[in-house]
Amino acid sequence: MPIRVDIKKAEATRRKLLQTAAGAAAFGPAFKLMESALGAQPKPAPAVNRNSAPSDLKITDMRACTVAANYDYPIIRIDTNQGVYGLGEIFAAGVKGSALMLKAHIVGRNPLEISSILRRIRNSAGQYFWNSGYGAIDVALHDIAGKVYGVPVWRLLGEKLRDKVIIYCDTTGHKDPKVYAKRVARRKEAGFKCFKMDLYTYLVKDRPGAVDARGVATPKGLGYLCELLEAGREVIGAETPLAADHFGPLNVDDSIRYCRAFEPYGLAWAEDLIAECWLNWRGFKTIKENTTTPVLTGEQAFGLEEGFRDLIQNYAVDLIHPDYIGSGGLLEIKRIADFAAAHGIPTVLHMPGSPIGQIAMAHLAAVLTNFVSCEHHAADMPWWDDLVKAPFKPILQDGYVQVPNAPGLGVELNEEVVKKHLREPGYFEPTPMFDQVITSGWRRTGPWPHYDEEGNWCDCVTY
Ligand SMILES: [Mg+2]
Repeated sequence: MPIRVDIKKAEATRRKLLQTAAGAAAFGPAFKLMESALGAQPKPAPAVNRNSAPSDLKITDMRACTVAANYDYPIIRIDTNQGVYGLGEIFAAGVKGSALMLKAHIVGRNPLEISSILRRIRNSAGQYFWNSGYGAIDVALHDIAGKVYGVPVWRLLGEKLRDKVIIYCDTTGHKDPKVYAKRVARRKEAGFKCFKMDLYTYLVKDRPGAVDARGVATPKGLGYLCELLEAGREVIGAETPLAADHFGPLNVDDSIRYCRAFEPYGLAWAEDLIAECWLNWRGFKTIKENTTTPVLTGEQAFGLEEGFRDLIQNYAVDLIHPDYIGSGGLLEIKRIADFAAAHGIPTVLHMPGSPIGQIAMAHLAAVLTNFVSCEHHAADMPWWDDLVKAPFKPILQDGYVQVPNAPGLGVELNEEVVKKHLREPGYFEPTPMFDQVITSGWRRTGPWPHYDEEGNWCDCVTY
């Protein structure tokens, strides 16, 4: 409900504030600084060419296109009035609209005001990868800011602790342990140093008595799943980090049973054993306390306060696993990882996306004090690298990604290759359908019919 304001009282308060402000002005420079930070004084018209002056930078547009890959890679581009633009990626398998629906909230803003823009749209983001446009916008704004200031994105986030970032590689599953092992071997030959195997129950469901009515492996089925793990272990050896994921609809008791069965294989972690980690930290804590297999989760959670705080401060997991975009992008994951670090919990980065996302995470991983490894999910895609022009190729070398030192993200799209792999026609086409606000919080846009303070009926704005 709108709040009525007593105009006389408001005027008195305004005078009081001005008097206080005049008093504050006596303190000199500090007040002046505050004044200019608030933009209170109109600036004189520039007498010289002010192109690329960061204070005059404005967002003019947001456009998108979607690459059809192992998952869809929806890529956004945020344009400005000075030609500089930023690239961002919506969560792999997400949709363009989750960023574009926020266009009207960011056009006209200075893209360097990253935190305040993100604060304004924070409530648009949700758990389970919903509306991961928030994270995409975060990445694109950092790309712009780095280009404008002439520094790599990592410099905007902190100090570089490593020049290259170790990657863990997903493996496409197979029900035959020999075939699965060959796929792991191919990745090892490509130089990867850390691995993950998916243990879907469908891999063993054809074997009698392996899967129960809930879709969970029986003790017998779990034995078959462990044969797959064993095949992978034989290829990479006992010391190489190996994780496991995608176990089906487990409950807490199932998860404990699974984790105990995995103990002989010395896993780096078992991932996302139960659902909705942002709600059920107690479930994760119970699992963690009943096995020596490290427990990891987080890819489906957004935000420190909304998604990760309970898991971390209750020591419910051994490692956290924020998603490169869905968990909130660079600034938010930095907050999450720093909070985890303060609790002695390491951070692994979930990244099933394009080279834009991979490079964005290299910048972030470079500055994290508790970084373990970052995912790569496209080892079987021959043209993954070709989607971008990067200062180094291949992007993945010997199981690592170099941290770029070029301004911004340091990568640009390879237009020709991206155009060859579009999910639907259109390469950063105009988006006038998103010019108007289409999603928002509390919002009043103009006059309304009512009695004003004098008791006169009007179609006006009273306050
Ligand atoms: Mg996962």
